[in-house]
Amino acid sequence: MITVLFGPPGSGKGTQAAIISERFGLPHVSTGQMLRDEVAAQTDLGREVGPIMTDGGLIPDATMVRVIERRLNQPDAQQGVLLDGFPRTVTQAEELDEMLERTGREIGVVLFVDVPESELQKRIAHRADIDHRADDTAEAFVQRMREYEAKTAPVIGYYQDRGTRIEFVSGHAPIEAVTDSILTIFGDQSPSGEVA
Ligand code: AMP
Repeated sequence: MITVLFGPPGSGKGTQAAIISERFGLPHVSTGQMLRDEVAAQTDLGREVGPIMTDGGLIPDATMVRVIERRLNQPDAQQGVLLDGFPRTVTQAEELDEMLERTGREIGVVLFVDVPESELQKRIAHRADIDHRADDTAEAFVQRMREYEAKTAPVIGYYQDRGTRIEFVSGHAPIEAVTDSILTIFGDQSPSGEVA
């Protein structure tokens, strides 16, 4: 079973994905991290996506679908994964559903971690001081928010129409409190669908 962590840039979905992944021993699949690794390794893909990421833009769907398909085909992904940063467009969501259907898997739940925009801006500025990510500048943040609102936010409507389970989680709280809200949603199930 696939769990999707969904939310605006800076909502803390990556932090939560890492915590939940460790707790349940499920792979944390962060497309942003996979791309940053490609940039650092100076691969062809890294050279293609690096400048777009620095500007806060979205990588073309066809490229992202290739990247995620390769990852979800790996043996460790068969029992379920925590998807962080994918899908980010309705096209990606459609392609993901098709891909999962082909391999007999499905999305168990979409966790929508939401945070007010004023708080997001503060968090990104703080992260810029710590992580030195190329896309944590004020300009890139504005662009990432624009992309989020125009292309990513509609993904929630897509899942609502499909009847996929969506759970809203307030990300405007201390890290541990957000984790607790997520664990309450899973109840006695692990995110892979087994009874924990
Ligand atoms: P993240 O670490 O999830 O904030 O992603 C960092 C950057 O990687 C984004 O701003 C995009 O440029 C790129 N990226 C990551 N995932 C995707 C995706 N699913 N579709 C398009 N671009 C992506």
